[in-house]
Amino acid sequence: MALIVQKYGGTSVGSPERIKNVARRVAKFKAQGHQVVVAVSAMSGETNRLIALAKEIQTTPDPRELDVIVSTGEQVTIGLLAMALQAEGLQARSYTGSQVKILTDSAHTKARILSIDEQNIRADLANDYVVVVAGFQGVDEHGNITTLGRGGSDTTGVALAAALRADECQIYTDVDGVYTTDPRVVPEARRLKSITFEEMLEMASLGSKVLQIRSVEFAGKYKVKLRVLSSFLDEPGEGTLITFEENTMEQAIISGIAFNRDEAKITVIGVPDKPGIAYQILGPVSDANIDVDMIIQNVGTDGTTDFSFTVNRSEFAKAMDILKNQVQPHIGARDVVGDNKTAKVSVVGVGMRSHVGIASKMFRTLAEEGINIQMISTSEIKISVVIDEKYLELAVRVLHKAFDLDQEDA
Ligand code: ADP
Ligand code: ASP
Ligand code: MG
Repeated sequence: MALIVQKYGGTSVGSPERIKNVARRVAKFKAQGHQVVVAVSAMSGETNRLIALAKEIQTTPDPRELDVIVSTGEQVTIGLLAMALQAEGLQARSYTGSQVKILTDSAHTKARILSIDEQNIRADLANDYVVVVAGFQGVDEHGNITTLGRGGSDTTGVALAAALRADECQIYTDVDGVYTTDPRVVPEARRLKSITFEEMLEMASLGSKVLQIRSVEFAGKYKVKLRVLSSFLDEPGEGTLITFEENTMEQAIISGIAFNRDEAKITVIGVPDKPGIAYQILGPVSDANIDVDMIIQNVGTDGTTDFSFTVNRSEFAKAMDILKNQVQPHIGARDVVGDNKTAKVSVVGVGMRSHVGIASKMFRTLAEEGINIQMISTSEIKISVVIDEKYLELAVRVLHKAFDLDQEDA
């Protein structure tokens, strides 16, 4: 007997029929004698619908109230799934995040889980119940409902698995595992049997939304056995296992290609080249809670330099406003220019550590397609470039091929 946490994403619970399918799958695991805790997302499209609804009342919704609204999506699914499980002849009980109690900090719309009280869940499991928990939500120390950021149900699933010391956390989604890149963009993408935790962390942070980054961080911290599988196949197979050891014998140099369309680039032109300038530019941006990603400062000539960085596209307007109205007059920069039609493409692989020439191969491949690289950033296991958004899909496809990731029979 094993204790298994299963997480089902929005498409997997997107209709009553699919919810019934999930119940049948859970019933199979129960029939094998396992204990099952299920974390679920809102039905597909529901979170977007709720956000749009909120915006009809307030263009920039109050974060506390937005959390009250969007958390209802998951609350509907847990009730429906508990009923579907009962219809399968199982005992089932649903819990919202606050009922469990999944305690988070108070950062509305992007809260972090601090602790999970697993007493009720354990008692229910001991009494042969299937426990169904609302993903994506928690409660802060004052009793306010919080949410964990888009895609946050993955994190609920993994955090539950960590708290319960589950034997495995299975993330069921609409693809049958983690692929070399998003299979919707590159049909030749291949499913990976396994991917190292470090690579998965990079892929998630660089834009592969198959797992929310915080779920991968949790899995790493608590050594949760994490697997990504399809909820649409009757026999989902082995999916993709996130491993903590590198298989040096079979290790590919590049494991995958991640991309992110949501980048926007800002350049502050003609900045005085002197100590404290980076701080004076980025300080006000960070005070406004805007995350900065890549940063480049050019070599100065005639006492001035240009300073570029990227932010999430949703925060572009806010960042431009701060730079034009606060920073530019303060530091005496010549101009502030922005481009919100940029994208980031990254090649990821632990095999890069022991191979040279990956960067030049990447740059050559892009050059051959006439794709201009605007910014570059590297770490031990990844190389990222910022390019014009219109070349994004082409870049991903040619890099996928150049690094021998295409499926052999495609
Ligand atoms: P869920 O609703 O189940 O959480 P998501 O839409 O959040 O599902 O994540 C699954 C999607 O992630 C896939 O449909 C796929 O388009 C996308 N995706 C992006 N990169 C990858 C990748 N490397 N491997 C698999 N899927 C990926
Ligand atoms: N329903 C939330 C979202 O759409 C959380 C999730 O699906 O993981 O982002
Ligand atoms: Mg998701």
